[in-house]
Amino acid sequence: MATLYFHIPFCKRICTYCDFYKVGAIELIPRVVEVMHRELDNRASYIKDRHLTSIYFGGGTPSLLQPKQIEELIDHARTLFDCSKVEEITLEANPDDLNEEYIAQLQQTSINRISLGIQSFDDRVLTFMNRRHSASEARECVERLRKAGYNNISIDIIFGVAGFGDEWLRETISEAIKLGAEHISAYHLTVEERTRLGIMVRKGEYQPVSEEQSESDYRLVEEMLCKAGYEHYEVSNYAKPDYRAKHNSAYWRGVEYLGIGAGAHSFSGDDRRWCISSAKEYSEGNIRFESEELSTTDHLNEYIMTSLRTKEGIDLQHISATYGKKECERILKQALGWQERGAITIANNRLFIPTSEFMLSDAIIESLFL
Ligand code: SF4
Repeated sequence: MATLYFHIPFCKRICTYCDFYKVGAIELIPRVVEVMHRELDNRASYIKDRHLTSIYFGGGTPSLLQPKQIEELIDHARTLFDCSKVEEITLEANPDDLNEEYIAQLQQTSINRISLGIQSFDDRVLTFMNRRHSASEARECVERLRKAGYNNISIDIIFGVAGFGDEWLRETISEAIKLGAEHISAYHLTVEERTRLGIMVRKGEYQPVSEEQSESDYRLVEEMLCKAGYEHYEVSNYAKPDYRAKHNSAYWRGVEYLGIGAGAHSFSGDDRRWCISSAKEYSEGNIRFESEELSTTDHLNEYIMTSLRTKEGIDLQHISATYGKKECERILKQALGWQERGAITIANNRLFIPTSEFMLSDAIIESLFL
């Protein structure tokens, strides 16, 4: 099994905190889409397994593509891969792109899951983040999607934002629950140096939240969502029963994927490669890659990292069978300290972080690396 990812690195406006590769030159989109078709033809054989389980349009802002352009890419994939088992085709979207006309056209496509970058339902926070939409536009967008029959909607929210008091986060989560989002991704705001937020911190205009605030925000998100029936199945992801993100879950299980577009990453099982062309170069058909071969140590560390971020954690039998008994013993030994303080549980041949301790995942993962 494998998955397919289309990367659309265009944004009309740059969010304060965003460190992803993106450009504002949306006039390049038609040319870029043309080249993406060519890349798809040329690189389909990068993944060994031609059976796809999911397709994902990520960005940037994929909703800047016309629905027709989206469907043409999906149709093209159907000519190259066996898509009979594809259950999920996701479009990341900005709420203000999804007007009635756009949604009507989207209904003619195979997109069956929408991931909305909403981030907050508080206009003050949205302005601070330089988002394109307001809280009411986000709300109306979800309502429009519901009316059009979309029943698999994911909402992104950001917590750990300083300067707006305590209530906005509670209200944001309540609103996401009220709107019945099937899936919620909740990320802590991070300050990256080369962003507007990074400049604000350097100038003393923004003071990141304290560790205590981070922890209390994290706990609030988890408490409210779990109480509302969401499963906390990955450090940053919550789902209603049967609505875990299939595409991302495949990624966390180490399934191979093909990424198409400027800045897209691909993984074949032995090799990881990423397109380093700028959108401009890409639009001119100049596609350059960098790659790295994964060693056994890389594979193991990657498995530790992705699996420990999920509720299921590490399969100890898999470790013994693939990397040897000694490796399994090493991990168990290094996990002992965490186990004693309740941050790691071992049961049914699995070693996992209880969801209440997910906050420590980065430190735990690092300590278990080979
Ligand atoms: S819309 Fe997404 S990719 Fe674009 S600037 Fe904002 S956070 Fe970054």
